[in-house]
Amino acid sequence: MIKFLDLKGINDSFEPELTNAVKRVLDSGYYLLGNEVKTFEEEYANYIGAKYCIGVANGLDALRVILKAYIEMGQMEEGDEIIVPANTYIASILAITDNRLVPVLVEPDINTYNIAPSLIEEKITNCTKAIMLVHLYGQNAMQPEIQSLLEKYNLKLIEDNAQAAGCFYGKQRTGSIGDAAGHSFYPGKNIGALGDGGAITTNDKKLESIIRALANYGSSKKYVNDYKGLNSRLDEIQAAMLRVKLKRLDRDNQRRREIAQYYCENIIHPDIILPQSNMQNIETLAHVWHLYVIRTLQRDQFQKYLADNDVQTLIHYPIPPHKQNCYKKWNNLSYEITEQIHNEVLSLPMSPVLSEEDVCKVVEIVNKF
Ligand SMILES: *Cc1c(COP(=O)(O)O)cnc(C)c1O
Repeated sequence: MIKFLDLKGINDSFEPELTNAVKRVLDSGYYLLGNEVKTFEEEYANYIGAKYCIGVANGLDALRVILKAYIEMGQMEEGDEIIVPANTYIASILAITDNRLVPVLVEPDINTYNIAPSLIEEKITNCTKAIMLVHLYGQNAMQPEIQSLLEKYNLKLIEDNAQAAGCFYGKQRTGSIGDAAGHSFYPGKNIGALGDGGAITTNDKKLESIIRALANYGSSKKYVNDYKGLNSRLDEIQAAMLRVKLKRLDRDNQRRREIAQYYCENIIHPDIILPQSNMQNIETLAHVWHLYVIRTLQRDQFQKYLADNDVQTLIHYPIPPHKQNCYKKWNNLSYEITEQIHNEVLSLPMSPVLSEEDVCKVVEIVNKF
């Protein structure tokens, strides 16, 4: 069986460093807000190219807390609108509605699966405060056209970098190009903890201090609460794991690019559409291939065929946010491109520990479909 993602294999490949790091935390006697988190925050800020990094409990909280901080700063209020791609993972949208802000869904580009820059402007109103830009599947979503809109309408740019750790937009890493970015260290992400974890990066000092307080009960001084905050902290033990894994992130992403390139060059099938503009993105490092997502009209038969041939695949994602039960009032809306994507996509095995042999086997089996 070729696994979609061999998480144990990935973490085994970091031994004995992970075990040593666990031991370091045990010896320190600190479990929260200690030296591991502080050091990881510095290392990750430095890696991303942002001034500040605040560790939080997960990627959803990272996005929630950024928006909450803007509300505390008086820069957003209930009912304000946030532009967001309609085909994102639901967490981006939950972060918006959780703050009583209004997600304004914009269709993606069918070729890149990222928000279609040309469809954004018609959705901007007097209530629009920000664009939440999702670098979906690991591919940079920033475009000069979006930059112009931010300036023209004085909008904030919030990046959802959960799937794109290490990715570049030109010479900058994604996560450093907007006003603030949310990062996820969910175990399956390109840099995964051994449990939940997340972070926020920003260059804005005021925002940083409010976020830091919000994530710690709204308190910057023990037992003094300036905001109605929440408890969302990165554990010392997860920070220690992430410090080990950050050192190899660029190399792991390079391996993902090699696998993606091999898929792109060798999968040849009339009914399968490969992810687009790969070669250019491989060269510009604008894709870290969190997922390798193909499209086919026979998606369900194709997935079954692969399973019968011992190739495990997943669908990212089977139901678009506007069709979910939790957003009933949107269920009748129609987002054609988004729905098409959810009906046709399939993610092939992808991870830095996928062997040469398995990559070849996947291609062989796919081509025989
Ligand atoms: C994983 C993910 C999140 C949420 O991260 P968690 O750490 O799982 O809370 C947010 N947005 C996107 C696009 C994601 O893929």
